[in-house]
Amino acid sequence: MPFTSLHSTSTMQKINRLPLSAKAARQLAELTLRVTSADNPKAEAQRLWIGLARGIRGEIQKILAQMSTGLERCMYCEDSQGTDIEHFRPKSTHPDQTFIWANYLLACARCNSNYKRTRFPLDIEGNPLLIDPTIDDPVDHLLLTPTTGIYIALDDKGTTTIEICGLNRDVCARGRVHTWTTMECLIPLYSTALSKGRLKQAEKIMDVLREHPFQSVRSRMSRIFQESADPALLLSEDVINAFKEHPDLL
Ligand SMILES: [Zn+2]
Repeated sequence: MPFTSLHSTSTMQKINRLPLSAKAARQLAELTLRVTSADNPKAEAQRLWIGLARGIRGEIQKILAQMSTGLERCMYCEDSQGTDIEHFRPKSTHPDQTFIWANYLLACARCNSNYKRTRFPLDIEGNPLLIDPTIDDPVDHLLLTPTTGIYIALDDKGTTTIEICGLNRDVCARGRVHTWTTMECLIPLYSTALSKGRLKQAEKIMDVLREHPFQSVRSRMSRIFQESADPALLLSEDVINAFKEHPDLL
């Protein structure tokens, strides 16, 4: 098979955090020390963040883009291009987390500035009530409904994440339904292209499948195929056959 195998993922998307360069990691550690030893950590964090050197900012952005799914999509909505370095723990309330690599996600301006903003709810034990896709597996908290594109919350963390990040906003729900239709068409086409020896076409189809927005739709299809007692309730016969013949689609 000439194509790289696809990693199987989950709803919203579990994301593997990649390492920063040693130089950037050292710079962040120095900045954190300056914040935590300042008289006014919040003001110092804001000031240093605004002045963050272009080089290190660029590296952070680049690695976050590599980590995200599809074509550099936002780690919350998976729809728009991730343009902002998002602080999972807001720098206004957690200044000591302003320069912590593990606190960075990639988000679109809409998710970052219109939805999540500086909100960061905690449960009674002080744990975040928001999904961090680099730590939590979103599939434990959210279930995607194929026919409506709506997420159903499986627990409090799911409920809060849907609300805070606006994951069920109409444009995203409809986008997921359209993505489902697109993938339902493309997955059997991939199988057909390979069976007819059209390798170039198969490769192009695989690129679309891998880089399409709303990658959670594709992983939901994989999971239905792999885990459901009766996949035919939600997947067409053509999709099921393509998955059976080409596990690289999963
Ligand atoms: Zn977004």
